Amino acid sequence: MLFNKEQIITQRLHDELFDRKKLSLDILRLDKIHPVVSGNKLFKLHYFLEEAQKKPGKPIITFGGAYSNHLAATAFACQQLGIPCKGIVRGEKRALLSHTLQNCLQWGMELQFISRQSYAEKDTDHFKNSLNTGFDDCITIPEGGYDTRGAAGAALIMNYIDKKATHICAAIGTATTLAGISAAADTTQKTIGIPVLKGMTDIEDRVHFLNSNSDTPRIESLNGYHFGGYAKYNNDLIDFMNKLYLGHGLPTDFVYTAKMMYAVFDLIKKDYFPPGSKIVCIHTGGLQGNLSLPANTLTF
Ligand SMILES: *Cc1c(COP(=O)(O)O)cnc(C)c1O
Repeated sequence: MLFNKEQIITQRLHDELFDRKKLSLDILRLDKIHPVVSGNKLFKLHYFLEEAQKKPGKPIITFGGAYSNHLAATAFACQQLGIPCKGIVRGEKRALLSHTLQNCLQWGMELQFISRQSYAEKDTDHFKNSLNTGFDDCITIPEGGYDTRGAAGAALIMNYIDKKATHICAAIGTATTLAGISAAADTTQKTIGIPVLKGMTDIEDRVHFLNSNSDTPRIESLNGYHFGGYAKYNNDLIDFMNKLYLGHGLPTDFVYTAKMMYAVFDLIKKDYFPPGSKIVCIHTGGLQGNLSLPANTLTF
């Protein structure tokens, strides 16, 4: 069994605010699947892994930075399934590897470090030839699973969401998770994404590509909650995370899920969601990322 789907639960949050606004807020806890591996990543990998299992011995090759949840998930999944795998890491090798990369090595992923400049050209044929890894014999997964197959895997997350949900919310990195969810949601359900990067203006185009250019994507992305950009944070966000944990027993990561939850609380206060809404937020995991915060920043 690749990962334990039985561990996925839906957690209802209770708050006087939700009563006042006459709506409900549930969290789909994909973080429960594994303590280190982000839940949404395992879904995005689903069809790539299925392909690899049909072609025994064929390695998986993929890309990411030193803190990439995607690299960690790929390394873990490949170890579980006995698939050889290689990670191309952005930037020169540091003497002290990040927790993420240490995990990748423990799970048997071979790592190759390349300069940021070469990394920027990673999707060109020229680059692939220069790597000398026999790409033709590999299953290549784009960074973050950004691919139609990644989105198709993410669509499977909808199987765990209450059909009566009116709004489904998730953090946006590459938009692959949101694309999959929007494709699988029915037309009455709204899918809402919160970009965690500053100045993302191509989300609709991304979703369109990820869903094989089918119909206009039915998504709404709400800007203004990136806290200065990717992996940036301030005291406000940290306070919010600590309160969310103390008040609701909900741990979040500062890169993705905390920003998404902060946005949802703010939007509830601002009456974005009509009375009667049944909101489901997807906890996509990523908790291992909190290890990069200074000690004692968080109460959990
Ligand atoms: C990667 C990641 C996301 C973003 O998912 P995309 O499909 O790239 O948009 C959200 N949350 C966590 C915890 C992640 O690791």
